[in-house]
Amino acid sequence: MQDWKQISEAITGASVINVFTHIHSDGDCVGSAFALAYFLSNFGKKINIICEEKPPENLAHIYEAELPENINFYVYDENNAADTEIPCGDAAIAVDVSDSKRLGARQELFFKAPVTVRIDHHISNDTFANVTVCNSQWAATAEGIWEYVKNYENWEKIPYITEIAKSVYTGILTDTGSFAYSNVTPDTHSIAAETIRIAGSMAWIYSAIYENQTKEEIALKAMAYGKVEYFEEGKIAYLQITREEMEKTGADDDALSGLAPFLRCIKGVSVGILVKPGKLKGQWRLSLRSDEHCDVNAVANAFGGGGHIRASGLTYLPESGMSFDEFKEKLIGEVKNGWCD
Ligand code: 5GP
Ligand code: MN
Repeated sequence: MQDWKQISEAITGASVINVFTHIHSDGDCVGSAFALAYFLSNFGKKINIICEEKPPENLAHIYEAELPENINFYVYDENNAADTEIPCGDAAIAVDVSDSKRLGARQELFFKAPVTVRIDHHISNDTFANVTVCNSQWAATAEGIWEYVKNYENWEKIPYITEIAKSVYTGILTDTGSFAYSNVTPDTHSIAAETIRIAGSMAWIYSAIYENQTKEEIALKAMAYGKVEYFEEGKIAYLQITREEMEKTGADDDALSGLAPFLRCIKGVSVGILVKPGKLKGQWRLSLRSDEHCDVNAVANAFGGGGHIRASGLTYLPESGMSFDEFKEKLIGEVKNGWCD
């Protein structure tokens, strides 16, 4: 059990709390942020949830839901940092954020708060916040949020417990590949069971997330399947999608999220490398997925990225001094070096 008391103590005097997700937000950071906000809104606090960019459409059931009046949801790049109305708050809490770079342009706002907190499940020793509660045994940060909520006496009766349950379930569902990955523990299933007992069937959440693929997304996948490259006798699958290819199919960035886990589903493949266009021209965002033959957190660390043993990410920047081809070769070399049989 984590030391949740230190968080409660750190934020007890705060009347405005800002909750931050990581850049390129996913189901876990969005689910965790909203679950935490609903929970804290019960204690007379005003909560601002601040995402860097609009989260993926398939999470709209969370971020487009009607919120209690003391919870506000902000999209930072739409609010334009210069004229933003977002207050710095008395406390800032980062959820699912392994290092402060993952706060993107919101770093300054985060560190302006007199008290900073991090709740996370990544492998990271980063101490960017005053108070850190991080457990890499949680399949999702949302598991930790549920544990925090359950510390509260009569937690089952608190207002918004149904919303909290749905948000937590979303975080767990998405970070475990629908309960399929090796990060799943008995606790993961117990927590999911509790949330279903409280909020009822969650089948609609699975459907909202995974059964709403656009025609453009299917067109992108059809194109992508045809250009997978293989290295190391087919043990490494590599797929690079350009901005032009995305524009050609009309697919948006959300469409890319399913492609990384797919690479590892190919027979004989242990490591999947998905390369997606970055924010600026020449930049590339990489998603790595592996099985027991490779620690892709270590691979990502070698290039300034991070994440988990079986799922990690990093960004290639042209100013690194390496051409992309050199980088690609080095990356594949790093995967080969870290290979365990
Ligand atoms: P994804 O490939 O789904 O974007 O990310 C997989 C995992 O790696 C997630 O846990 C995510 O938070 C982490 N991750 C992705 N990109 C980066 C990065 O650039 N730096 C770090 N530290 N972690 C990342
Ligand atoms: Mn997560």
